[in-house]
Amino acid sequence: MDEMRPTTGTVPTMTTDRPEIEIRGLHKSFGDNHVLRGIDLDIARGEVVCVIGPSGSGKSTLLRCVNLLEEPERGQVFVGGTEVTDLDVDIDAVRRRIGMVFQQFNLFPHVSVTANLTLPQRRVLGTDKARAAAVARENLERVGLSDKADAFPAQLSGGQQQRVAIARALSMGPEVMLFDEPTSALDPELVGEVLSVMRVLAGEGMTMMVVTHEMTFAREVADRVVFMDGGVIVEQGPASQVITRPQHERTRNFLNRIL
Ligand code: ADP
Ligand code: MG
Repeated sequence: MDEMRPTTGTVPTMTTDRPEIEIRGLHKSFGDNHVLRGIDLDIARGEVVCVIGPSGSGKSTLLRCVNLLEEPERGQVFVGGTEVTDLDVDIDAVRRRIGMVFQQFNLFPHVSVTANLTLPQRRVLGTDKARAAAVARENLERVGLSDKADAFPAQLSGGQQQRVAIARALSMGPEVMLFDEPTSALDPELVGEVLSVMRVLAGEGMTMMVVTHEMTFAREVADRVVFMDGGVIVEQGPASQVITRPQHERTRNFLNRIL
């Protein structure tokens, strides 16, 4: 037992040290298009990983395979130690543990901001009305939109809508958050407010996988940057290394084009 071990030396690794997300030998094709060509990636609990790479390199497909919006054809994905690619797994139960935020905010347009946050809790989690409303309030406050609780999505700016989308995902109490280019559809002046919310989440210890072209965010917030091209991870490491001193020609070409 652990308590029998000497107090000096390394602490034994516990099962809780298992990565929050483990991706093993992941492959995905759409017809003849072999999009993911063997992805291996571990993300620790509380780690923020930014995924960068050219359009069509498979970034969205990778995120979508993690929460099973796409079914991988080969390989495994574990979230919190549970294999989500296990055919017997309850997909809804898995998705509850993984929040996802898309480029297009996908809010329910015909109901209030509050209802956007309470309906999924009521329908998917079976949360009672009062509790769902309390969670909604808490998360609107978290994204700085308490004053928009009764507004309808169309009355909000794009940045505010995306913050509502983040609050909605958080209302489900996820262990992991996936972001797929969350600021790409926004006017430039609205990008900052969304990144600020994400920065706070990262600071709170949320495990995050973020596909983004925001290199400043990646530099400042990411624990690790992963560069993908052609369905493989070409290189990865701290932002200071991958963005500032890329080792691979393909990474350099990509960065030269976007920076
Ligand atoms: P990225 O997010 O890096 O731009 P994607 O993962 O969206 O790349 O797409 C990678 C490739 O997979 C592209 O060639 C794209 O056309 C194709 N693809 C993505 N989703 C689908 C789909 N649902 N059906 C068919 N092809 C798809
Ligand atoms: Mg994409």
